[in-house]
Amino acid sequence: MPTAQAQLMNGTDLARTLIDDTARRAAALTRDQHVVPTLATVLVGDDPASVTYVRMKQKRCERAGLRSEHVALPASTSTAQLVDALGVLSADPGIHGILLQHPVGDHIDERAAFDAIAPEKDVDGVTSQSFAAMALGGNGFASCTPGGIIRLLDHYAVDPAGMHAVVVGRSPILGRPVGMLLLGRNATVTYCHSHTRNLGSIVSAADLLVAAVGKPNFIVGEDIKPGAVVIDAGYNAGNIGDVEFSSARTRASLITPVPGGVGPMTIATLLAQTIDAAEPQTTAGE
Ligand code: NAP
Repeated sequence: MPTAQAQLMNGTDLARTLIDDTARRAAALTRDQHVVPTLATVLVGDDPASVTYVRMKQKRCERAGLRSEHVALPASTSTAQLVDALGVLSADPGIHGILLQHPVGDHIDERAAFDAIAPEKDVDGVTSQSFAAMALGGNGFASCTPGGIIRLLDHYAVDPAGMHAVVVGRSPILGRPVGMLLLGRNATVTYCHSHTRNLGSIVSAADLLVAAVGKPNFIVGEDIKPGAVVIDAGYNAGNIGDVEFSSARTRASLITPVPGGVGPMTIATLLAQTIDAAEPQTTAGE
């Protein structure tokens, strides 16, 4: 008998739909308000991976009819200088969303920098205020990867309510907020991290697994509960996720591929949230 294979959660197609919708909204704002929605991208230093990520986000902006304005700062930038630069962008009425590319360098207080972004322009969902909104259910932007994961779950009609969701990883931009969003959807959430004991047995209890570790093929199929929904947010060298895809696919009911699962949803969410930010800013004076 052939082995059962999980259904793929296609982030590429869903992201395209979201970007098309974003492009329509951007065109309407430009036509009706004569304002081109603008995302400021801020990069400290010249880390090649960060340069590539920022360039990719700028290109997607262009394709969706958004303007991007790039601020390149030297690696020697201090926390105070970065906070100042973000303050200037926050006060600039021509900028509707701000993305500070992570990581910013060990000598910079990243939390202070993130919190220098005006919450209404925090389209990447990195400020403490946005985190509080994700945790407490108030108004605010979701971190883009967690927000993209929730959009994927919604699209594939996965209702987390009552599910045991296990999140492996607790970073401020990914693991922690995705767990908060799942809790907000009434999942029973367990966080795992580098101090977790018996990881395999916790993973094997998951109805919904989110892998956000940054270690290639770290979670193997035999640890996955048959029928589980598996979200692989990991992205490692060689296009490899945190979940061993071939073995996991024989156990899960739904699974995100890498690439083509969570990754495209992150940028699509960033662009959609830039329009979400621009609309009230451009119509506030009417
Ligand atoms: P991170 O900041 O390095 O966090 C990794 C997390 O994994 C930490 O919470 C760490 O625990 C935990 N961890 C490390 N070793 C572990 C172990 N042996 N057992 C259990 N947990 C362990 O990474 P990140 O920024 O969240 O990114 C995670 C992955 O997602 C990476 O592959 C990254 O490339 C990918 N990512 C993808 C997107 C996308 O758009 N697709 C966006 C962002 C990130 P401690 O807290 O105890 O150290």
